[in-house]
Order: sequence, then C-alpha cells, then structure tokens
Amino acid sequence: MKKILLALLIIIPCLSTSQGLLSKKETFTRQDTLRGSITPERAWWDLTYYHLDVEVKPEEKFISGKNTINYRVLKAKPELQIDLQAPMKITKVIQDGDELEFRTEGNAHFIKVESEQPVGAIKSITIYYEGYPREAKRAPWDGGFSWKKDANGKHFIATSNQGLGASVWWPNKDHMYDEVDSMLISVTNPKGLTNVSNGRLRKLEDLGNKVKSHWFVNNPINNYGVNINIGDYVNSSETYQGEKGELDMDYWVLKDNLEKAKEHFKDAPKMMKAFEHWFGPYPFYEDSFKLVEVPYLGMEHQSSVTYGNQYKKGYLGNDLSGTGWGLKFDFIIIHEAGHEWFANNITYKDAADMWIHEGFTAYSENLFLDYYYGKEASADYVIGTRANIRNDRPVIGQYNVNNEGSGDMYYKGANMLHTLRQLIEDDEKWREILRGLNKEFYHQTVTTAQIESYISNKTKKDLSAFFNQYLRDTRIPTLEYLIEDNQLKYRYVNIVKDFDMPIEVKIDGKTQWLFPNSEWKTMAIENDDFIVDRDYYINVSKVK
Ligand SMILES: [Zn+2]
Repeated sequence: MKKILLALLIIIPCLSTSQGLLSKKETFTRQDTLRGSITPERAWWDLTYYHLDVEVKPEEKFISGKNTINYRVLKAKPELQIDLQAPMKITKVIQDGDELEFRTEGNAHFIKVESEQPVGAIKSITIYYEGYPREAKRAPWDGGFSWKKDANGKHFIATSNQGLGASVWWPNKDHMYDEVDSMLISVTNPKGLTNVSNGRLRKLEDLGNKVKSHWFVNNPINNYGVNINIGDYVNSSETYQGEKGELDMDYWVLKDNLEKAKEHFKDAPKMMKAFEHWFGPYPFYEDSFKLVEVPYLGMEHQSSVTYGNQYKKGYLGNDLSGTGWGLKFDFIIIHEAGHEWFANNITYKDAADMWIHEGFTAYSENLFLDYYYGKEASADYVIGTRANIRNDRPVIGQYNVNNEGSGDMYYKGANMLHTLRQLIEDDEKWREILRGLNKEFYHQTVTTAQIESYISNKTKKDLSAFFNQYLRDTRIPTLEYLIEDNQLKYRYVNIVKDFDMPIEVKIDGKTQWLFPNSEWKTMAIENDDFIVDRDYYINVSKVK
C-alpha cells in the first residue's frame, strides 16, 4: 500500500519531475542560472503587459505568432533578456518600428535595444516567433503541448509547463519574480474548435475557416499559469454568491461530458465556500473562475483551472491519505483550485520556495474536509498522508537555478502547517493568519522568509527553529522518553539548533503541555500512562 502511495505522490500535478522529484541533479549549468536567476538583463525592466497572439495549427502541430511586451524602465541597460526554448525560434524583434538584433545563448535571447530607454518610461517590444513546440511526454509533469483527439476524433489540445517554463511555447521573461500586471491572449484555431484561456473572453472573431478568440486577464498572472486549451467544448455556468459579491463560475467540458460534469462539478462551489472561509475572497473575481477539461490530469492555471480527473472522486479514484476521507472530494478540483490562493495569488519568487504553493495547497485539502466533515476528519486525512513523506531532501531547494526542493513539499508541508495550527491553539487566529497571508501578499511574489516572518509576527512566537527543522532539514524530530520510578524523562533528538517545540501530551489521563528540548527533562508520572498528541508531526521513541 505504501508503495502505491509513493507512486501516486510522484505524479501529483503541478510538480515538474523534470527538475523535481525524479532528478537528483546537484550540479547546475549556466543555462540553469540564466533561467533561474534575476540576471542584469532581466532586472532593469518591470513587466506591465503581454499581448500574446498565436495561431495553432493542429494538423501540423505548429504554432506561430508574436508576443508584445510592455515594460517600465527601471534603469537603462543595453540588452534585454527574453526566454524561448528550442526548437521554437524567434524570427524577428521590433521596437519603435526598428528591427533589433539579438544574440542567443541556449534558451536565453539577449536583445540589443537601440532606442532611448528613459527611466520610468513604458516601452513596448514585439517578439515574433514560430516552430513545432515540444510535445508533452507526460503532461503536466513533462510538459509542453498535448496534441490529442477526443472520443469523436476531434482535436483536443492543451498546454502545460510548470517548472519547465512557459518559454517552452511562447517568448517571455521566464522568471517567477516578475508577474505581468495584465495580459491579452489571442488564439487563432480552426473553426469548429473552441479555445479557452485565462481570464474573460473579450471577443470572438470569425476568420473564415478559422476563429480567433481574445481572452483578457485583468490581474497579475505568473507565466506558467497562462494556458490555451482547444477542443470541442461546451459550456455551463453558475453564479456564486461569494465574499466579494457575485462570481461567475464557468465549466468548459467536451461535448459528450456535459451531463456528467454538471453533477460532478458540484464540488466546485463547495470548494469556493470552504476556501473563501479559510483563505479569504477568491483572488480573481474580475477574471471569473473556470474549470476547463483537458487531456491530462490537471493544473492550477489561474482562473482557468484545468481538469482531467476522469470525473472520479479522490485522485483518479484513489485516496492519497489511505483513510477514506480522500474519496469525499475530487482531488483535482480541490487541490488545483486551492492553488488560486497559494500559487496564483501568493506566488513564489524562486522555484526553491515552491512549498509555498504545494505545502499550503496540500494543506487546503484537509481544510476542505475540516469545513464539511470536521476537525477529526481533517486530522485523519493529513496524518494519513504522512505515509507519503520520504525525508529524502529538504523541502526548500537551491536558489537562483530554477531548482525545486523535495516532493515532501506537499505532505510534509501540510503536516508542518497542521502542527503549527496546534501550536497556535486558537483556530480563529489560525484562520486569520491564513486569510491575512492572502491579504498581505495579495497578487504578489514572495520568499519563504516573508511567509515565516509574517506568521512569527502574528503568533508572537519565534518560529525560526521550527521552520528550519521542517523546511531546511530532512530529519523529523524524535521525542525520546522513558518512565522509571514514577518519573517521566524526555528530550528531543534529531533536531536543528534551538528546536524546542512544545507538544500536547496526556499524562495519567490528563492533557497538558510538555516543553522538550535537547536536554533530558523530568516530571512526575503515577502510572505508565503517556500519550503524545498525534497532531504533532514528530516521532516518539520509548528508550529502554
Ligand atoms: Zn499542486
């Protein structure tokens, strides 16, 4: 059973195995640095707007188009870095009516700007490009374009590119720190097929045997969240009365699946209710909320969450916690939509801090259960998922090289947060913190340090050793204890410096706090009756 669970964990969406779990890559190349760091050629300009305009030719598996990039000049530099991965090619770069030269270093292209770049000015540059984009081998983990057909033989196409980078199919500033403020996505495809992207459909153009759809995203968006999904779609929708008023929730599914979806997607408004309660208002009212069926498992594309869980409960019908609670909801709807708060609203600056997306979102699964089935159910679930934790590498990866930490970012992250909830001892306060994070860092890119310091400030606890233990070390704290002569002796081992997390225990049937650290401590006990609260993610070992 454990093996099955581990196998499942490997394939949780939104984790790119190309740089994540499956690869133990320890050396990094110049390309990793160009992709993963804020290079001088990126730092001098601030993204304000993208207009991606692309034509998709399914028969040829070919795309071509342009991306117009508006940016604010922070400090003029002679070269501007744009990322586009081979085999895609930049064919032309235009600024102020002039064609610009560029030099290419792998996937990074350095464009020599010619016109004046006054500090504070908004400049525009257009990158023309084309090619046969990398085909996804195992979307969404090994991403790119999925060129599939539906049961009726119609084209069913989708992009997915977390980790790998959006530059696998369109030219952009492919680093997470700088989100564009708004974006227009214009997609041309053969008539008879519908494209659904992020945001709202602004216009649909009839071009004879083709159609062009224009989707406008009215909020900051990370590059990997941008997607196109082309299929024989039909649409259903409902209005949700949310914390910020009316929210339109739209469901785009293949024609044959409409009736099934109407029933199955009842999890979507349930999700919205639970997550607005715990995390605050849905962060993208202006862009609506959509579920879009795709030919792969799913991904947290902002305001157009993609869905491919085969209309089953759990994760393709499986319960990742092994407790039964995981079959109470559709894993993809709950998990991927949970990312609207942690990934799309609060976004990591550097891939090393990806736990901010996955830890909180894995934790959102139990908060969903908590909302509908209560605290014990949610505790059962998160504790059940501990079987998936490997403690192979730290949860935080290496900075500046587009490196993700261990896949433990999911369930170790969730168990760390569940443990933290116990330490705070006040569920209302914990909810305020979760909502506060979404307010404080609304539509921002952040670091782990910012999250840590926000939580430490709000709880008035120094949580540095706590976060160091669970995020930067692979060891799980072990409480060693022994009972002799009516004395309980206890201490922590396997801990980082200064780790002294209090825990709740039952001694002789009475619940109380224990304050262990690395030194042996002693307290009176009458019977051999000592139980550590299961909610704390530690190991407990009775020593002889
Ligand atoms: Zn995820």
